[in-house]
Amino acid sequence: MPVRPTVAIVGSGPIGSAYARIILESVPDASVVMFEAGPRLTAIPGESVRNIPDPEEKERARERSQGPQAGSFRKSLGLPEGAMVEGMFTARGGTHLLDFGGEGSAHAPTFPAAAASTNVGGMGAHWTCATPAPAFSERIPFIPDAEWEQLIAEAERLLHVQKSAFADSGVSAAIRALLEEEFGAELPEGYGPSTLPVAGDPQPDGSMRWAGTDVVLGPLIEQGNALAERFELRDLTLVRRIEHEDGVVTGVTVEDLRSGTTEHVAADLVVVAADAFRSPQLLWASGIRPTALGHYLTEHPMVISTVVLDEERMSRHATEDQLEAELARRAKNPADPVGAVNRIPFSEPDHPFALQVMYAERPPFPLDPAHPAARNRWGYVNMGYGMRKRPRFEDGVTFDDEELDYRGFPNMTIRYELTEAEQAEIAQGTEHLGRAGCALGTFIAEPRLLPNGSSLHFQGTMRMGEHDDGTSVADPWSRVWGFERLVVGGNALIPTATAMNPTLMSVAIAVRGARAAAERLRG
Ligand code: FAD
Repeated sequence: MPVRPTVAIVGSGPIGSAYARIILESVPDASVVMFEAGPRLTAIPGESVRNIPDPEEKERARERSQGPQAGSFRKSLGLPEGAMVEGMFTARGGTHLLDFGGEGSAHAPTFPAAAASTNVGGMGAHWTCATPAPAFSERIPFIPDAEWEQLIAEAERLLHVQKSAFADSGVSAAIRALLEEEFGAELPEGYGPSTLPVAGDPQPDGSMRWAGTDVVLGPLIEQGNALAERFELRDLTLVRRIEHEDGVVTGVTVEDLRSGTTEHVAADLVVVAADAFRSPQLLWASGIRPTALGHYLTEHPMVISTVVLDEERMSRHATEDQLEAELARRAKNPADPVGAVNRIPFSEPDHPFALQVMYAERPPFPLDPAHPAARNRWGYVNMGYGMRKRPRFEDGVTFDDEELDYRGFPNMTIRYELTEAEQAEIAQGTEHLGRAGCALGTFIAEPRLLPNGSSLHFQGTMRMGEHDDGTSVADPWSRVWGFERLVVGGNALIPTATAMNPTLMSVAIAVRGARAAAERLRG
């Protein structure tokens, strides 16, 4: 091992950023170079786009993150112009569909809403910042409990998680009280309605500065900080291949998308954190092809709805003054879609779902002013149940060496199916959502199941396992089985069936991987 180990990180999302931070903080002479295929969007690298106050600037930042669907920005992102890119679904702002329907598009008819972000910060510059921790069977069985708690605490520190955001809101407390009346008796102690942990920093005016990867990188992007001298973030730089010889990884080949030049970068460790589809694609393209690669894809089937809050019921638990205070807080940052957020977390055996309830003072879609629920003083909630998908080998992404995608990588085909096990839980979750809605008010958008892929929580395609038995890609420290100096990261590592937003869990897994890698690098 050379005196000054070099670590190459592929992808600048929360996971790549967590690796960079932990390794630089714990290996005194290491240097880290992080490669990001997309552009830098904000003056502070990786800052949440939701913090951009100017709506036009915010929209521009989102569009520049949309890779092949970035419209007029495509050429500046090193992508060919002119290809037809309209798909049948519209991707969420800041993301682009994998199956966008144009030249070089992936094939995902059974997983049509699958999407990615291509920008500094990855999806972590666009996320909603919900950071619940896994519970019961969501947890990874082969990581000891005491260590796991500690890993989650570290992940919460890195992401600036607030466990009681908006806890002072009377409106939010009233929503919890009504949910408690409906469900409290049937939920285990500690798993009833509560505030949803979110990642961000509360501001003196009651609003939030949402966490992007800037907070994970922390001192690495702080001018004058010694750690920053050992960190380099290269945007618009696509990692084309992981180089390896006899099972030992030696570095990466990267393409500068501004100039089109290609270069080999030697590294003592390569960390691949390029999302749950493009990470396995890069491994595949590099000739690293464990049997489980791309398989065992899971996400959260999601049933969503909108409810108008009932004045009489809400007034039983909140005063007019509390409502006024909530409206005054919302008026300070009306563009921020996230106000008070509550939840009922996953618990077993009777509530194997995660309910998220987001308060909004305005309806999320235009309502006819004559509609009885238009301009409801007590506001609205957008609610969704996230459900589990059981991991199966046959659900996943495969890669075709003969057909290249728009970036010149083996193209993806996603195959995915909801089985009876999922259908049964979806029916149960939908029934729960009906109860929650009736407890809070009246539906103005009935519960509906979103198309597969809509959760954006793509898991399992590089799952970790205890043994190298063909059902996993990585060992319990995120090292790819059979390869030295190669670590993978992201939601793709999650081997269990989960219902909650996965980023906190994936950062916790990354902390474990990064600590083990740092120990090896220190020699
Ligand atoms: P990403 O953030 O996807 O970053 C991967 C990066 O790798 C991308 O920037 C990509 O451009 C880059 N890359 C890919 N290939 C290459 C290559 N070959 N070379 C160089 N770079 C490459 N999760 C939650 O837990 N809670 C939420 O509330 C939540 N809300 C969300 C809301 C939205 C609108 C979105 C879009 C996502 C949301 N998520 C949420 C998901 C969350 O953002 C992801 O779980 C998280 O960002 C994953 O981190 P990552 O680092 O693994 O990957």
